[in-house]
Amino acid sequence: MLGPDGGVSYLDCQHVLTAFDETHTAEPRQAAGRLIDRFGRVHRSLRISVIDRCNIRCFYCMPEHVDSFLPQTDLLSFDEIVRVVRLLASAGVSKIRLTGGEPLLRPNLDALIARIAAVPGVDEIALTTNGILLPRFAESLKAAGLQRLNISLDTLDEATFQRISRRSGVDRVIAGIDHAIDLGFEQIRLNALAIRGLTETEIVPLVDFARRRNLTLRFIEYMPLDADRAWRDDNVLTGDAIRQRLETQYGPLQETGRDDPAQPAIDYRFADGSGRVGFINPVSKPFCNACDRLRLTADGGLRNCLFSDRNWDLRSLLRSGASDADLRNLISESVAAKEPGHLISRPGFQQPQRAMYQIGG
Ligand code: SAM
Ligand code: SF4
Repeated sequence: MLGPDGGVSYLDCQHVLTAFDETHTAEPRQAAGRLIDRFGRVHRSLRISVIDRCNIRCFYCMPEHVDSFLPQTDLLSFDEIVRVVRLLASAGVSKIRLTGGEPLLRPNLDALIARIAAVPGVDEIALTTNGILLPRFAESLKAAGLQRLNISLDTLDEATFQRISRRSGVDRVIAGIDHAIDLGFEQIRLNALAIRGLTETEIVPLVDFARRRNLTLRFIEYMPLDADRAWRDDNVLTGDAIRQRLETQYGPLQETGRDDPAQPAIDYRFADGSGRVGFINPVSKPFCNACDRLRLTADGGLRNCLFSDRNWDLRSLLRSGASDADLRNLISESVAAKEPGHLISRPGFQQPQRAMYQIGG
């Protein structure tokens, strides 16, 4: 269902929508045991933001000065999170990713991981982190059942790290990465957000860093989710531009194919067989047509898209004695309302009210 620009074809989606409408019943997607939206997308993954706080202040995500973070009482408790995970897992969600803000700032995260790992139907638990606190927590997280880590590393250069994060200490991130490697996680990937005019010089050093450690590095395009609302089209350093730069340096890259069709990245092997690089291109090549993700914000909102302002308030239901059936209905409503895709770079696009750290990346 890719359109001419590689994005979602609304025409195709409309066709699927009609087909689904014919079989619509009161709770069809839950009754079938799975969460399928109007466009036939089956939802198998959930990103849970466990906190909105962070120990750094990346300009593409947070403001430099935050007026207020969520008070502790507004955060979903572990009991509440696990209840939502159970309901979603019973409807086919099997992949869980913990994120934030910086998820390692949530106290006792290992206890939450152990509880999620015990939920029937959950077969993958991953975490996205800025890496700084890994030396302190990675061992207990792994022992609790954490299998996969995505560690964000946009630069190896301290001055550039400070420009991006408004804090110092890229060496702390590197120490976190090396610590995690020593612990032997099932999978560790590096995420590098690419920004035109700022991180071009980082492309080759980051790739060399990842190749030396035999890690997959993925470049991510900058999306309009920054709290400062400074994003512009021309800040986007596209995956294609980076790939061309890498082919000049390392020779032709060979696409690896996708194990999972819902995976947002396209990965490549290097000609010499050492290491992999991937591209997540939500702006230049949207992958909404294969999206299988739901998001739970730290304050208990269910979101069906990063770019939607609609929030299904699970927390209020959870705290008012709602039954599982009530919660399922709200989840179904959210899935049913999912739009075919985002409209970044198209006329009429509105940046969501919440910035990335308030949703969960
Ligand atoms: N603090 C953790 C971290 O940085 O890895 C987890 C939360 S962070 C919001 C998750 C991911 O979102 C990071 O890899 C970060 O680079 C990415 N991200 C944040 N703002 C973004 C933006 N405006 N566009 C694209 N990716 C963004
Ligand atoms: Fe913090 Fe991650 Fe946002 Fe950077 S991207 S400010 S590390 S939450």
